[in-house]
Amino acid sequence: MPGRFGIARLFGPSYSLRCVAIHDISAAESPFTRGMRVSITPGNFEAALRFLTRYYTPVRLQDVLAESDGRDLPPRAVLVTFDDGYASVMEWAAPLCGKFGVPAIFFLNAAFLDNHRLAPDNLVCYVANVLGMETINAAVRAVKGADSPKLQSLREVFSFFFPTISLAERQIFLDALVHLGGINERQLAGEAGLYLTRKQVCELAALDFEIGNHTYTHVQCRSLTSADFGQEIDRNKAELEALSGKKVRSFSLPYGSSADLTSDLARNVQLSGHEAVFLSESVANPRGTDRVCFDRVSIHANKDDAFFFEIEVLPRLRALRNHLWRPWARSDGPALTSVQSDGRHRRRSTAS
Ligand SMILES: [Zn+2]
Repeated sequence: MPGRFGIARLFGPSYSLRCVAIHDISAAESPFTRGMRVSITPGNFEAALRFLTRYYTPVRLQDVLAESDGRDLPPRAVLVTFDDGYASVMEWAAPLCGKFGVPAIFFLNAAFLDNHRLAPDNLVCYVANVLGMETINAAVRAVKGADSPKLQSLREVFSFFFPTISLAERQIFLDALVHLGGINERQLAGEAGLYLTRKQVCELAALDFEIGNHTYTHVQCRSLTSADFGQEIDRNKAELEALSGKKVRSFSLPYGSSADLTSDLARNVQLSGHEAVFLSESVANPRGTDRVCFDRVSIHANKDDAFFFEIEVLPRLRALRNHLWRPWARSDGPALTSVQSDGRHRRRSTAS
């Protein structure tokens, strides 16, 4: 395996901090997650930790914040992160990370802690799996009108529909789903028990895991207006800090797209005290990557060869593709600006 790391460098020599993004860890998918590709099995998760601790050096957020351009991090530094606050991370991630000595960040949405509400993605997924896409499309029509194009899949809901609607329209859509499905959301959320409790967040913080911000209600950030930032970003940060007793220093964008990281959002998250921002486009981070847009790799593999391909090879190829064919994707546009302490924008360095 070590020789393969040299070969991987042929696909792009500069790969500084490796970041891994994980969501749910469960042996079987439920109607709330089936079709979203957010779950990995406990066995595959343990295999991933074994792979990461054998070939990489797991680091803490503090290590990343303390270094300036990637030169002070250990060789093959890797940062492990979890999004969405699924209850399964308390059952599997915390004990297994402890066993392997792997630090981690848990990016949470405070609105869903204690299971009184369902996150929008899980509600949509449940309705699609239990009642079918026709119910989803009926709720879409409640927002977009009778002539709205018919959506065929969950992916189309999350990738094509959600980015086009405001927060208020999303609430109309979700209310329509609940109404059309005859769902008692509070009861369903309580029975499903999908998410961490507030007590468990305290326990994670006490175990020295880092707690991060993932917006209050898991929103598509490109739909946020300046007036929404306080409710979705600042409120979530404040609630998580009150709960954990620790400063929330990092932010991960729901859905992980650089297209959602507008200059307004980048400015707001930094001015509100976040020191690092994470995407999920599975692209390699070159040395000198701006802290406002670390990319992360979602892992789904189950053995070393496949992990190597997911973490080491494909992200380099995507970076190469972006460099050659989509130069605007990582060298221009509002997503790649950051804010200095005096509030002025700084263009992200793309030097590797
Ligand atoms: Zn998420």
